[in-house]
Formats: sequence, C-alpha cells, structure tokens
Amino acid sequence: MPLAQIRGQEASIDLISRTIQSKRLPSAWLFSGPPNVGKCLTALLIAQALNCKTYQGLDACGQCDPCRQIEVGNFADVELIEPSGQNIRMEQIQEALRWMQYRPERGHYRVLILDEADRMNRESANAFLKTLEEPPPQTTIILLTTSPMLLLETILSRCQHVRFQPLSSEILTDLLAEKTELANDERNWLMQQGMGSVRLDLVKDVQGLRELHSQWGFWLQRIGASEMMEILPRCQEWSSAKDLTWERLLDWLETWLRDLAWLLHELPETELLNQDQLPALRKCLQRYSSESVLALYEAVLEVRHNIARNANKTLQLEGLWLRLKHLQEA
Ligand SMILES: [Zn+2]
Repeated sequence: MPLAQIRGQEASIDLISRTIQSKRLPSAWLFSGPPNVGKCLTALLIAQALNCKTYQGLDACGQCDPCRQIEVGNFADVELIEPSGQNIRMEQIQEALRWMQYRPERGHYRVLILDEADRMNRESANAFLKTLEEPPPQTTIILLTTSPMLLLETILSRCQHVRFQPLSSEILTDLLAEKTELANDERNWLMQQGMGSVRLDLVKDVQGLRELHSQWGFWLQRIGASEMMEILPRCQEWSSAKDLTWERLLDWLETWLRDLAWLLHELPETELLNQDQLPALRKCLQRYSSESVLALYEAVLEVRHNIARNANKTLQLEGLWLRLKHLQEA
C-alpha cells in the first residue's frame, strides 16, 4: 500500500515522502497524534519503502517479498515493540538495542518501531538515548506516541517530529464502513465517540458499551448515597476487566464533560458527542457549574496520569466518583 493512500494526513505524508526520496533519513522519527489515525501503518509503510526490492524513489511496490513480509509482521529487519503490560520494559529495550547492532539480514534498512514510546520508564529511556545519539548505520527508529509531552526532552530533541491529525467525520465514516459491518446508527455513534480516531478496538461490543454509557449517564444525573452504593463496588470490576472498562469510563467522562461545557456555553446541541444522552446531560447541567466541569476535567486527566504511573486503578476510580458526587453538592 503506498504512503499516499494514508488518509487525512496529507502534510505529514508529504514531508515523510520527501525525506525518504532525499535519502537524508533522520536517525529517529517521532510520530505524535491521536490514537488510531495511521501512525503505526505509516511507520510500516516507511519500512516497506526502505526495504522494497523494486523501490524507484516514489513508493514501495507492496508486492515483492520484503513488502509482503513487512505487511504481515514477518520480516527480519523490522521490529515492532509495544508495551508489555503497563510499560515498555528495560529488557525489551535492551533486546531491541542489541538487535539494532546487526547489519540488515534481508533488506537495506533495520527499522525499529516503538509503539506508545511514552511508556518507557526513565531507566529504559536513558538506555535508549545512547542509540539515538549514535545510531548504527542503515538503521532508523520510529517512535509513536499520543502524548509527546511525556517523553524526555533529550529524546524529543533527537527525533524528527511529525504530527498526525485527528481524522474528519467523512474519513472516519468511510473507514468504519470499509472495515466493519456495523449498522448506520452504530457506525455514527462510534464515529462520534472516536473524536477523530478510528476506534476499531470498540467494534466488537458497541451495544455493551452504549449500555454502560447510558448507565453512567443515569448515575451522573444525580449521585446520591444509593447511587454510590452501586457505583463503588463496581470500580473494582471496571479496573480489572480485560476490555479496559476503566479506560472506557475515563474516555466517556471526557466526552461527557466536553458536552456539559458545550451546553453551559449554549453551543449547538447538534454537535454533542453524546447525542443519544441529551435528556441526562440536561439534568446533569443543573447540578454542575462551569468551574466544577473544569475541575472534573482536570481530575480525569490526573487519574489517567496516576494510572499511567501504576497507581491503584480501583482507588483512583473510587476517588473520581467521589469527586463527581462532591462537586454536585458544592
Ligand atoms: Zn516492494
């Protein structure tokens, strides 16, 4: 698949294509932007362009052995590293750095792709820094992140930074139609929830997630003692669920608070992300001020930050619901 077919990222793809054609590759790239907007696919397409047997200065052919093997994740000179659990572990980095020291086996370039690079701890990031300063010949490193501000300044300054944009509603609708078999109504819902990202990870249980959202919305209309008695015991369940319910809750709360702020400022209701929960949003509106919505938004960010640093998820979620209740009473 040619780089030019990545949708909605024209400026970034143009910059990348020109860099590859100039043959003056940076030792490391940093791709930042929302999740699921094409960062990882672009990284793999760069690996193809650098290793394609018939590359003619424009794009990879997509047909030769290296191109096909890279596409299915089975090419000796391309390595994709993802967090193992919460973090990218030191051993993963050490192994990758050893791998980078060897000459390319099959292709022209060794390409190391580090997904969620902000999940390296300080120790791993420092180990990585030496290789970024003096990368072995015929290698390139591509770091992917949704939160570049969490990376060490010393890492940021050694990478060529390429920013990826949220996707437009039109592109999201097209991609979801191509890649899923969802009905129109569910597809539109997922498109709105994605806020510029293609949330294929949510496709398998759209109905279940909608039910959870409406339950959360119902509780938020008025959080009294009896609601808290239902909510608090479930924080543990949401924290440990395999489908990352805790993360879904934080994602949803951000969209909910965004919608509340939207209504508080009397902006058009047609642009709400939780259209299907308008009655609950209106009731909630009577209980929160602009200040409390802002305070809650910051609380959600803080909980994300704490969980990324291994804080106890259940306690974090319980604390967040208590704040949601407290700010209704204030
Ligand atoms: Zn090829």
